[in-house]
Amino acid sequence: MRGRILIVDDQKGVRRLLEELFKKEGWDVQSAGDGREAIQKVEELMPGLDLILMDLKMPNINGLEATRIIMERNFHVPIIMMTAYGEIEVVKQALEAGARKCISKPFDIMVLRDMVNKLMLEVAS
Ligand SMILES: [Mg+2]
Repeated sequence: MRGRILIVDDQKGVRRLLEELFKKEGWDVQSAGDGREAIQKVEELMPGLDLILMDLKMPNINGLEATRIIMERNFHVPIIMMTAYGEIEVVKQALEAGARKCISKPFDIMVLRDMVNKLMLEVAS
C-alpha cells in the first residue's frame, strides 16, 4: 500500500475516475462527496490518512472552508486543492487556507499523478 488517500468531489464521475487512478497506483482510496463528509472522514481516519484531494466547489461545505476546518483541528495531512479555471485569487485563497498545492480543472490525470508523487516525496523528506 502506497498510503491512504481521501478523494473529495461532489461529481460522482470525477470521484470514480480518481478512485480508479489511485487504486491502480496502489493507494488505499476513500472518498467523500462534499466538505462536510470530508471533515467526518478525516476525523474517522486520522492519523491513518496520508493525502487529501479536495475539490473547491461543492455544496454544504466547500473545499476552502473544509480545508480551513481540517487545519484548525490540527490534522496534519497534506491537501491538494482542485480548483476551476486556476484563477489566481482562488489559488491564493486555497494556499492561505492550508492547501499544499493546487491543480486547475480540467487536468490531465497524469499531471495530477506526478504532482501527488512529488508532494509525497516532499512530505517524507
Ligand atoms: Mg465541484
